[in-house]
Amino acid sequence: MRKTTFYTTLIAAIEDIEEHGYDHERIEYWLVLLIMMAEQTFKDRSKRSARDFLTDQARKYSSERNIAITHKGLPIRYFSEFTNHAQNELNARIAMTDMLIAAVRDEALDKMTRGFIGWASSVSHLTPSATDHVKLRKRLNISDLSVMERRILFDQCDKMKATLGAIIAERYGALAAVWHSRWREPEYNYREDHKSIDEVIMFMPDTHEMRLGLFVPGLPLVTDQSLPGMEPNCKCYFTYLYGLHSIPDIYLTEKGKVAKVLSGY
Ligand SMILES: [Zn+2]
Repeated sequence: MRKTTFYTTLIAAIEDIEEHGYDHERIEYWLVLLIMMAEQTFKDRSKRSARDFLTDQARKYSSERNIAITHKGLPIRYFSEFTNHAQNELNARIAMTDMLIAAVRDEALDKMTRGFIGWASSVSHLTPSATDHVKLRKRLNISDLSVMERRILFDQCDKMKATLGAIIAERYGALAAVWHSRWREPEYNYREDHKSIDEVIMFMPDTHEMRLGLFVPGLPLVTDQSLPGMEPNCKCYFTYLYGLHSIPDIYLTEKGKVAKVLSGY
């Protein structure tokens, strides 16, 4: 027997209503079935849940291998696993993702319900059907949703990584961050103003080194704009720099250059 899915139920509903015409009970019967099948589809899709995906990505971000790339100069031996702040961020992102996906699903169910009632109430068994089945099925199908759900998941994941990076940078005293834009990626709809700050070094505000006058004045600060990855569909990211040896000489005062040499590099 063929497996009953939302889609096969939708086809059966359309055929039945075309054959018998609409009446209140018939529409209600099919709607209950359709909503049930839609919810089953959503449940099946959630098997690999946002929780698993985001937890996995958070662990990867915090792995020694990634930290060596994204937090340059941070001695790995100082880096102790997952902090409470990081765990809180992960939990908040999981909750936010679940909420956004639930909202998108509710909206899709409402749209399907309205579309189905709208169509069904126009069908009469006394006149031949003028329904374009391909269009109707497409309009009422909920499968397109998985694309939207994935987009939400990846967007929240980028935001989570940006926040995890900022948490680590603050905790371990990063001196600066380098903004990276992915403008070279084909088909990525990048922001011009983000492309223009690609590879720009921005300094953490009010660090000990800054207060000592080791950096030339007037340098861009990480707080001058929101974190990369926070605006909708922004795929920019920071890599962080630790220790004076990671800061190019052009950003250092004479005092800074001396301190850099004295720091052993
Ligand atoms: Zn961006």
